[in-house]
Amino acid sequence: MNVIYMIGDGMALPQVYAAMLASHEKMTFSQFPYIGVVDTHSASNDITDSAAGGTALASDHKTKNGMVGMTPDFIPVKTVLEVLKEQGKETGIVVSCYVTHATPATFYAKVPKRKQYDDIAMQLAETENVNLIIGGGRKYFNQREDSLNLLEMMVDKYGWKVYDTLADIDETCKKYAVIANDDHMPPAAERGDFLPRAVKTALRTLDNAENGFFLMVEGSQIDFACHAQDSTWMMDEMLDFDYAVKVALDYAKEKGNTLVVVTADHETGGLTMPDPNGKYTNPVFNYSTRSHTCLPVMVYAYGPGAEQFTGWMQNRDLKAKILNACGFENIGDGLPEYDGPQIKAVKVNHDSYSIPK
Ligand SMILES: [Zn+2]
Repeated sequence: MNVIYMIGDGMALPQVYAAMLASHEKMTFSQFPYIGVVDTHSASNDITDSAAGGTALASDHKTKNGMVGMTPDFIPVKTVLEVLKEQGKETGIVVSCYVTHATPATFYAKVPKRKQYDDIAMQLAETENVNLIIGGGRKYFNQREDSLNLLEMMVDKYGWKVYDTLADIDETCKKYAVIANDDHMPPAAERGDFLPRAVKTALRTLDNAENGFFLMVEGSQIDFACHAQDSTWMMDEMLDFDYAVKVALDYAKEKGNTLVVVTADHETGGLTMPDPNGKYTNPVFNYSTRSHTCLPVMVYAYGPGAEQFTGWMQNRDLKAKILNACGFENIGDGLPEYDGPQIKAVKVNHDSYSIPK
């Protein structure tokens, strides 16, 4: 049994439908037989960031915005990647941002503040839970405040093979990192098919795993584009992520025994598609914020156990559903839940709507 867990950072239904409208194509998203709704609020805020959002998607726990892989009171949480590794599966992470950025980090690292990139890089170097990782962010490995060269240490001390490009790698190797840029990977228009190609590469490697695998993939820059309110960039990122989803879905359809779950950590941009002339004929992309919103996101599932991903759920519910699909039940960590602010009702407050506390 394999799991491919895909996260479109900042991607709620508006981003998916915007790409559908503008591409005039049937996107892969519409091929999923099971679709649900995911509430994304964090333990501290109605509107989550990627650190708390990722932590909830990776583990059973909501946490405070900015925290990676730990509860609000600093207790490390066990992620779905870590549980499945412990149960004998091989694991991989593929992203188009820094490999140390909030979403990928929530699967393997534990730090109170998401900006502790040097610490996150060190935790990645030291971890035995990740078999392969592909993305950007080389500067956190070789231009560090402590002057260590983590890339060399990863090879000499921790048994990684480290590569600069996808082209060079030995796909039969059991532990490798492809850190393909100093910074985040370039935007989709410049990086070409890096993300879907990285997913293909990871799947060829993990296909040899005896007890199956867990692969996390992030379309990282949908969020960046929506922060920038740049619709061309957003569309490029959505179509790129859709291609990566297609690679995963095609693999699952061919091989069977593979659960594909596609979701998001939160919505970014407050994207809507009104006709500014009020004529109902020419919808345009309209952003209401340069930040995140509390809009729920969708979850799309295919494969064994996919039927669990329907209805309305919390982001912290996904780990248990994935473990159930893999035949592992009740693998909890016994920690209490931190549910955070509950949205009770929306009421009219003078000329704007606000959410009562
Ligand atoms: Zn963001």
